[in-house]
Amino acid sequence: MKLIVGNWKMYPRKLGDAKAIVGKLKFPAKKLPRTKVVVCPPTLYILPLVALLGRSPILLGAQNTFTVDEGAYTGETSPAALVSSGATHAIVGHSERRALGEDDAVVAQKAIAAVRSGLTVVLCVGEAVRDPGGAYFTEVGRELRASLSGFPKNMTKRLVVAYEPIWAIGSSALRAATPEDFREMSIFIKRNLVDRFGKSAGFSVPILYGGSVDEKNAGGFLKEGGADGLLVGRASLDPERFSEIVRVAVNTR
Ligand code: PEP
Repeated sequence: MKLIVGNWKMYPRKLGDAKAIVGKLKFPAKKLPRTKVVVCPPTLYILPLVALLGRSPILLGAQNTFTVDEGAYTGETSPAALVSSGATHAIVGHSERRALGEDDAVVAQKAIAAVRSGLTVVLCVGEAVRDPGGAYFTEVGRELRASLSGFPKNMTKRLVVAYEPIWAIGSSALRAATPEDFREMSIFIKRNLVDRFGKSAGFSVPILYGGSVDEKNAGGFLKEGGADGLLVGRASLDPERFSEIVRVAVNTR
């Protein structure tokens, strides 16, 4: 099963434009074979898009959530409210949120609250720079362990890890990583997950690649890189490109 997650970030500005993007996605109305697609729009659009999507196979996710289900936390969005609005997934610990001040301890609390509420967590990790000495492995390992502090072992079925090297994300990215870069890091992440959760639970956590994914390089990450799926930013806002990425995933064995 491949998981394709679209992270729309804070785009588009208007609900009508969000509906237009979803309306132009060219997926069959029935279940997609061996592939799950999750669109993560701005939070306010989740509810209307759930209504618009009806019986479509596209699921909706949030780009962020909070550490508890309810309380006096002005302006936050609780995981329980997300579930009740129809979201099935939540991205947690995206590098753009970490850059806004979210530390590993908060990321870990958000991940726990999200799975306890019934969401599947897409936990993002990734190094800022790749040094020739390979210290970035240590950095990613530390970030992964800290972001999973206290995560319940019996809930790993609802855990997904997205490897997103920061240098490969967004319009100022140096380049996408290579399938080989991903394969190497995903083995390292898997080993850490096995240490943390044991062989069977650790091995079964899907690992996605994210960072300048497009319709041309998607197949390489899925096939040569062995990725269990993709976290797609910019290209997920273009319905033709995103539909093509999903088509590539459906056709990758
Ligand atoms: C992201 O925001 O998670 C991302 C991977 O962005 P992009 O695909 O635009 O690099």
